[in-house]
Amino acid sequence: MKSDRAASAKKLRGIPVYPDIVIGKAHLVDRSRTKILYQCFVNDEHVDREVERFEEALETVEAQFISLRNKMPDTLKDQAFILDSHLMILKDSMLRDSTIDKMLAEKINAEWALKKSLEEIRRVFEQIDDDYISNRISDVENVADRLLRTLSGDTHHNLSDINQRVIIVAHDLSPADTTELNIAKVMGFITDVGGRTSHTAIMAQALEIPAVVGLENVTSLVEDGDLLIVDGNSGTVVVNPEDSDIIFYQERKLQLEKYKSSIARMSYLPAETPDGHRIAITANIEFLEEVTAAKDYGSEGIGLYRTEFLYLRGKGFPDENELFEDYREVAEIMRPAPVSIRTLDLGGDKFTSDIAISEENNPALGLRAIRFCLREPEIFKTQLRAILRASAFGRIQMMFPMISGLQELLDARAILDQVRDDLDREGIPYDADMEVGIMVEIPSAVAMAEILAHYVDFFSIGTNDLIQYALAIDRVNEHVAYMYQPFHPAILRMVQQVVNAAKNAGIHVSLCGEMAGDPLCTSILLAIGLDSLSMNARAIPLVKKVVRTIPMEQARADLEQIMRLNTASEVRAYLLRQTRKMFPELQERGYLLD
Ligand code: PEP
Ligand code: MG
Repeated sequence: MKSDRAASAKKLRGIPVYPDIVIGKAHLVDRSRTKILYQCFVNDEHVDREVERFEEALETVEAQFISLRNKMPDTLKDQAFILDSHLMILKDSMLRDSTIDKMLAEKINAEWALKKSLEEIRRVFEQIDDDYISNRISDVENVADRLLRTLSGDTHHNLSDINQRVIIVAHDLSPADTTELNIAKVMGFITDVGGRTSHTAIMAQALEIPAVVGLENVTSLVEDGDLLIVDGNSGTVVVNPEDSDIIFYQERKLQLEKYKSSIARMSYLPAETPDGHRIAITANIEFLEEVTAAKDYGSEGIGLYRTEFLYLRGKGFPDENELFEDYREVAEIMRPAPVSIRTLDLGGDKFTSDIAISEENNPALGLRAIRFCLREPEIFKTQLRAILRASAFGRIQMMFPMISGLQELLDARAILDQVRDDLDREGIPYDADMEVGIMVEIPSAVAMAEILAHYVDFFSIGTNDLIQYALAIDRVNEHVAYMYQPFHPAILRMVQQVVNAAKNAGIHVSLCGEMAGDPLCTSILLAIGLDSLSMNARAIPLVKKVVRTIPMEQARADLEQIMRLNTASEVRAYLLRQTRKMFPELQERGYLLD
């Protein structure tokens, strides 16, 4: 007999982000639903009471911000400044006094007066001729939003004070929202929008939160309190599952955990094929706090340190010493293993939170990454000085993101030379032999790889962006996610072209896009001849196991076959067949879905 729940059981498929299974209650975050009441009073007494209500709301929200700041997990302690700036806004007379003045003068309720103050502040910010400052309006909006929700008694949608173990269901979570999540309480999250390589997804992985994104309309299918199964491995979400689904997924979770711990025990072994070919396996990190875990997962270095997040914490740009201390610590923890620090890659989907340098119609094609740094040389130099200074404390390598051609690389290198000269003049030590490389992630850089290879010490192929730019697929747009194909023959050819260029020039070549951590891709990447693969640390044990199982001879024979195939689906089907044959247990545990 079917249970009541079964009547409404729904299975949805989205894009898996973090491979774990959770079963729990849905917590719907729908900020658009906060209802605001507009009231006028005739009686002064009512107005006075309304002012008191507003002051109480201010106190409540202040207490929430303070408590959130105190409870922030270590991984996110740098983000505490967001809350400091929110506290300052809460006390600012532009918000507080002007709202109270309006209530008294116009005899209107708190919500209405607050909305009016917010409009005024918005207008003032719009007139400020400084993009960074004018964009701080989002902080004011966050604070006002929380005040409005407190006034209207709608306290459901504060991400940070969720205190039951729930699965968040939201239209979207910005990277800043993700940092606000109470990690101890949030079992997982699922969203309507987003792609596998969106930075929100990457942050979820860093925080080890099981998540499925790009479900398109999950917020309209799920009600608060619905029971959910989130399988972050296959991207399946079951809404109001049947008892048999629950038993199935609980069993699968157990199996998955057993399997993960069995492969984790082997992760210290080198990634060497049975016929003796070595490949270096390193980790991608976004926070200093991830370094130790990366080592524990068997990483042989940091292949990509994404440095944006210190710039995204809502307190303006960090100063040289803050950056230096952070980079020095990463270098010291990893020493003697290498750490590749990527210079600032702000832009694209890394502006969806607080900082937007400018409004652009196509941010992925706009003033992003190295383009922004070359436009703002002082910001760039501050980071370069910090990286160079830290290079005296370990084996740091540095790479520039989004290089599109030689001139851009020469311009970046010229600034680096100036910074080196400054440090020499000031007698500040740094590693004069620090390797300098580039991310190859724009098709024009692939075409120019033969030339670029003579101007750098290494290449790191960023397939997340390379796929986006080569196939014209927005990496964060769920509507075209089905076309985001790492196995597209064009992508495989591009990777091969870059590897060949690197080999011809005698430089090292790594791949650090999400492809690197996908066990289906491991044999092709091995056979193409990459020197190292850099991935989310949790992917390391499985990728190492795959490398240790597949003989290079077989990987090369497979690559030859694959290069004759003409479509992404043929390539994927071929790899699925081969991988299922060699690793039937991966199929059983849901790693290899069609
Ligand atoms: C990439 O583009 O593949 C990459 C690793 O960089 P990011 O995901 O930070 O753009
Ligand atoms: Mg990139």
